[in-house]
Amino acid sequence: MPCDICSASPSESVITPAAMSGAVKKGFNPFSLGLVPPALTRLATPDYPAKWEHQTIDGILSHSDWTLCEACTEGLNRFLNIRGRDHLV
Ligand SMILES: [Zn+2]
Repeated sequence: MPCDICSASPSESVITPAAMSGAVKKGFNPFSLGLVPPALTRLATPDYPAKWEHQTIDGILSHSDWTLCEACTEGLNRFLNIRGRDHLV
């Protein structure tokens, strides 16, 4: 399974939707962090990051687990609170 964020590396960790939406609410943005490869970012519309954020917190992306590669997990880690860390598998 490729990483749900960058699609570039195999996934290593499973993040619950609750932990992910909490991190996004705290400012986690894979686009501004450079986790999403430029090739994918170029394909996206300018409002895509905002849509992604909304879907992750409250939409279609908020219902299933995320599988992330090591780099994306590391980027996300700073935005997980201690309770969020308990959700890491
Ligand atoms: Zn990744």
